[in-house]
Amino acid sequence: MQAKYSYSFDIGDGKNKALLGGKGANLCEMTQMGLNVPPGFVITTQTCLDYLQNKRLPADLMAEVRLQIAAMEQLTGKYFGSASDPLLVSVRSGSAISMPGMMDTILNLGLNKETLAGLIEMTDDPRFAYDAYRRFIQLFGKVALGIEDEKFDVHFNNVKRNAGIVADVALSSDQLQEISELFLKVVHDETARPFPEDVYEQLEIAIKAVFDSWLGRRAIDYRREFNITPAIANGTAVNIVTMVFGNMGDDCATGVGFTRNPGTGENEMYGEYLVNAQGEDVVAGIRTPKAVQKMAAEMPEQYRQLVELRNKLEAHYQEVQDYEYTIERGVLYCLQTRNAKMNAAAMVKSSIDMVKEGLISKEKALLRINPDTLEQLLHPQLSSQHHQQLLAQGLPASPGAACGRCVFDADSAVRLAKTGEEVILLREETKPEDIHGFFAAQGILTSRGGKTSHAAVVARGMGKACVAGAEDIRIDVRSRLAIVGDIHIKEGDLITLDGSTGHIYLGRIPTIAPVFSEELKTLLNWADGIARLKVHANVDTPETARLAVSYGAKGIGLCRTERMFNASERLPLVIDMILANNTDQRETALAKLFPIQRDDFQKLFEAMSPHPVTVRLLDPPMHEFLPSEHQLLEEIDALKHYLTIIKGQRVTLEALNLPAELPPPFNQLGEEQIMQALAKKEMMLVKVLELYEVNPMLGHRGVRLGMSYPEIYKMQIRSILEAAARCLKQRLPIEPEIMVPQVITAQELKKVKRLVDEIQAEVEDQYRLKLSFKFGTMIETVRACTRADYLAEIAHFFSFGTNDLTQATFSFSREDAENKFLPLYEESGLLQDNPFETLDIQGLGKLMRMAVDLGRSQRPELKIGICGEHGGHPRSIRFCHSIGLDYVSCSAPRIPVARLAAAHAKLLENQPL
Ligand code: PEP
Ligand code: MG
Repeated sequence: MQAKYSYSFDIGDGKNKALLGGKGANLCEMTQMGLNVPPGFVITTQTCLDYLQNKRLPADLMAEVRLQIAAMEQLTGKYFGSASDPLLVSVRSGSAISMPGMMDTILNLGLNKETLAGLIEMTDDPRFAYDAYRRFIQLFGKVALGIEDEKFDVHFNNVKRNAGIVADVALSSDQLQEISELFLKVVHDETARPFPEDVYEQLEIAIKAVFDSWLGRRAIDYRREFNITPAIANGTAVNIVTMVFGNMGDDCATGVGFTRNPGTGENEMYGEYLVNAQGEDVVAGIRTPKAVQKMAAEMPEQYRQLVELRNKLEAHYQEVQDYEYTIERGVLYCLQTRNAKMNAAAMVKSSIDMVKEGLISKEKALLRINPDTLEQLLHPQLSSQHHQQLLAQGLPASPGAACGRCVFDADSAVRLAKTGEEVILLREETKPEDIHGFFAAQGILTSRGGKTSHAAVVARGMGKACVAGAEDIRIDVRSRLAIVGDIHIKEGDLITLDGSTGHIYLGRIPTIAPVFSEELKTLLNWADGIARLKVHANVDTPETARLAVSYGAKGIGLCRTERMFNASERLPLVIDMILANNTDQRETALAKLFPIQRDDFQKLFEAMSPHPVTVRLLDPPMHEFLPSEHQLLEEIDALKHYLTIIKGQRVTLEALNLPAELPPPFNQLGEEQIMQALAKKEMMLVKVLELYEVNPMLGHRGVRLGMSYPEIYKMQIRSILEAAARCLKQRLPIEPEIMVPQVITAQELKKVKRLVDEIQAEVEDQYRLKLSFKFGTMIETVRACTRADYLAEIAHFFSFGTNDLTQATFSFSREDAENKFLPLYEESGLLQDNPFETLDIQGLGKLMRMAVDLGRSQRPELKIGICGEHGGHPRSIRFCHSIGLDYVSCSAPRIPVARLAAAHAKLLENQPL
């Protein structure tokens, strides 16, 4: 029946989860599909909201409940509160989305002294009846009256102990009766009132308790934790369902099942059941359940019904279901169903299978998978079978798990890795000169810095696990120790990192290798067929480029050339270039770097052929390639100390009249070499002091470097164009793109473009061919957004650098924000999300839209992409699609995520973001 506040299962709208809650809506839907659901009804979430607002139930609610119960009595032939064959009910909460553990279920409601007698008579099984009674008193006492479990458990355990019984099933009917009476006394003592005997009073108290639970601490915390806003779920429904019993004998059972294997996605019967038991016995793990396949032999007819139930559920919901059932005296009842939670591999496999089986469309197969989960499939993961204690927690900076021996500097990482050991590099923070340590290590752990610290960005780019900013760990490089409380971790000790959670463990935890399965390939090919946005990669080596291609990248959207400067054999050349005192000296140093860069670009073009490769000219401030002032001072000190020792040796030899010549490095030559090293370090120190900036990220970097030192940009442009010419000579199809960072005015672009034009003419002459490439700009300053029409006069393409653009829009320095005040802003709701992770659509989004519109008003065919980290973030990708970008570019491990998200963006383009 339908009334004001409630819907019986045979008429409630199974699609209206907002009004009926997920559980209630599914009970209605299953009833109307003809599945065997025990009769019952749902009181709506709207009634809950009325109750919470007015602090009392609507005056006519209980009258309506009586009518609903009367309808259930008609259907079951049992009567609520009757002394013979009583109707018992369960009372369950259920909001629009599942909130497990928010509120317990009350079972067996409707039992009192009279109905208990009726139940005993009807079942001829006093043990069963008293067992149901004592469970009801305790659950009702706890859930509806707020009495702690311990108050009941003391008595329960006393009776068991006095009788010398271990397992609950061994309790006799008399003992269960004794327990029930003790429980009734507990309720009387705790509430100063007898246990309610009137079954409608029981029901009214239970309904109120379920409604109240919506504002309970647990529920509020849960909603905050999982971002469940009133638009997603508002109030809880109450489901009142006829009790069926799985514990009335050996023709009874209770079980839970999944319509497919949630671990693998395999299309098979999956689940567990217990004969002669109640649902809570399965959940509480009191008895070990059996695999559902055993039921085929034990209860063949019921197994057949169960297979039929499972098939009907999937065919109807077109989604893998997680369901609960009870068999009462040979009859199977379905008590609940909901969409199953499965891991990413199982989601992918079941998507492919369900399309092949004709159950769902490709579009639906794509939409049922959350793109973010695909990243799980590309990193090694920690095996779930471990019980290791957490050592410390840092920021999950680059996903994946890694285990290895601790080292405290990059050289040691390389040395140890050469012996075949797996290593984890531990640093307070990392610098470009640690880069060889990154290559050698399985994972990186830092005690300082945020999710875009050098360590995090480089590790992500390489697809290596990284935990950053683990502030509870004190790293003492001198003593080669990491200290957490009173635990000392020495060089060579084993640790395990989980870059997906930020967890750090002592010792080795086994990891599971990733697989890019055939099913994932198929799924992502479907995605590519639907998406409008292309997916490019942020990579800067041929190896990562090849990896990105294998993940499905259709180009390189950002090659950060400075990364190429960091390899150990190149850094000294870069340092010479920085130390140069005039253009001539700088050009000499650059001439040595030139062939190296040209070869790098050639290999990159080859790895990505025929797709576009966007190379960004040098961006970071120069001082990033030099050691810190602190480190240089220490090294200078050490070298001076060493010189004193050599002098001391010589004085000693003279004093003792011994021959003056010692072996190297204590001889003349050694001394000269040390003097040279000292002079170089001192020059570096002068340069470091000269280059010092209060705020380097807003200082002398990006195109500003190109304006001050055009010879650097000239060398890079020539390397790119000659690499392109060499590829063309081999008839390799390529699409090079030159990109300028940090631009604020068209004048800067014009100046760089002039260099490009000059060099292009020279290279074309030299190689006797015509080059074809694009010239473009990053959009990562606010001014670039507002002047985009002028930039588009010169640029063939734009690429949004939303890492810098976010900092500029918010006037936040990312590392300070993430380490200091952003968590507070998020927790207190001042900001909904971390804008460095989720693109700020309201603020920064407006700037992007403006830049797109202005840019295309000047140059309609302008190609536009994004290469900030948001380019791998699904919601941000949807926004990029909505403003008409052509591509997104992200780190290699995010490529599958971005490909699926790009398809979602297309499929959901008519829905609000
Ligand atoms: C950006 O600013 O978004 C960007 C891609 O550049 P980088 O992160 O190298 O500063
Ligand atoms: Mg940038």
